[in-house]
Amino acid sequence: MTSKSANLSAVVFNPSSAPDFLPRTQLRKLQLERLRRIVQRAYHHVALFRSRMDDARLKPETIHDLEDIGRLPFTVKTDLRDTYPFGLFASPMKDIVRLHASSGTTGKPIVVAYTKEDVKVWTSVMVRSFSACGVHDGDIIQNAYGYGLFTGGLGAHYGAEALGATVIPISGGNTQRQLMVMKDFGVTAICCTPSYFLHLIDQAAEEGIDLRQLPLRAGIFGAEPWTESMRQRIEAQSGIKAYDIYGLSEIIGPGVAMECQCQNGPHIFEDHFYPEIIDPRSGRPLPDEEEGELVLTTLSKMAMPMIRYRTRDITALTSEPCECGRTLRRIKRISRRSDDMFIIRGVNVYPSQIETALLRVEGVLPHYQIVLTRDRDLDIMEVQVEVTPEVFTDTVGALEQLQGKLSKSIESMCGVRAHVRLVQPKTIQRSEGKAKRVLDQRKM
Ligand SMILES: [Zn+2]
Repeated sequence: MTSKSANLSAVVFNPSSAPDFLPRTQLRKLQLERLRRIVQRAYHHVALFRSRMDDARLKPETIHDLEDIGRLPFTVKTDLRDTYPFGLFASPMKDIVRLHASSGTTGKPIVVAYTKEDVKVWTSVMVRSFSACGVHDGDIIQNAYGYGLFTGGLGAHYGAEALGATVIPISGGNTQRQLMVMKDFGVTAICCTPSYFLHLIDQAAEEGIDLRQLPLRAGIFGAEPWTESMRQRIEAQSGIKAYDIYGLSEIIGPGVAMECQCQNGPHIFEDHFYPEIIDPRSGRPLPDEEEGELVLTTLSKMAMPMIRYRTRDITALTSEPCECGRTLRRIKRISRRSDDMFIIRGVNVYPSQIETALLRVEGVLPHYQIVLTRDRDLDIMEVQVEVTPEVFTDTVGALEQLQGKLSKSIESMCGVRAHVRLVQPKTIQRSEGKAKRVLDQRKM
């Protein structure tokens, strides 16, 4: 038995995870109580929410059962920008113990706030997240999420400490030091973006470190969309289990949802975050199993309650029972955000579709970039993808054949032709945080 499988069998039930297993009727009762309270709070303390409710002639008392949530107004990202910096706070600054901010691509960041109670809730959902994937006290967690205004670093940090694990607050970047620490400190679990972990895999290979021989057994990966094919690549190359964690600063940070050891999509911590799926065009609620935009309501957040926040993440809710016994519904892995979609020659394309199409083909590495250009009036999509060194030194004929295979795979996946350019390993720039998959050079 290798050291990895020995560690995997050592799963300990954490008492903090009890809410994960609440009977549904009890959970719904709790959700309704909390929903009524949070809507009252938002109505009486957040001017924007109150005016929208008044415009729609709604009162907080409108909420009689959970389905009534569908009558409440949505909150969108621009609401956070328009009320910058503190306009959506429901608590006075003296009760707020922490601020975080996320940088937008343009202009001002969005600012989020936490009371002491909110930080406790956040910590508790992170403890439940680690426990869900079998990480427990005694584990040594390398936290390579960025520390600072970004919620990833501190969110995972407090959760790991409260779990009783040993946390190494290494933050992002400095790949060589990351590997040294991983090896010398006997790290058993790592938190970072999946694309950064791929970078660590590469660098380890270069330094002659075999990740399979290290005690590292679990990766808690999030903060960017990734695909099932990417998970398979990561697991095959490193010998660890790769788990998907979901969260966003507007709601709380990491720890909104987390995969259990069955690895079949993150369970939403529904006692704190109420999920809905809507048709992104009409705003109409959709039933479980149907794909649409994820909308979340914070049921317990005091400093900044979010009512029906549109995440722009495309997924489906499933109420199918999970083998782990958790009663929490799951979301399908989020591999695309409506924000990431680009339009090429009139066709909607998501980077995750390209990723899946590429990783289906043998000889290709999970590093790619999509470059969009325009020649006169014609949009051109070039997909640059790294291939293994063995493939790269192959004959011209073999390379052309691979190129053809990849183009075909992309066309059948997305319905649009792409020019595929095979590049040497390490040609595409590595990210130390979230990967930048699309370079759109069409805007003059
Ligand atoms: Zn499960």
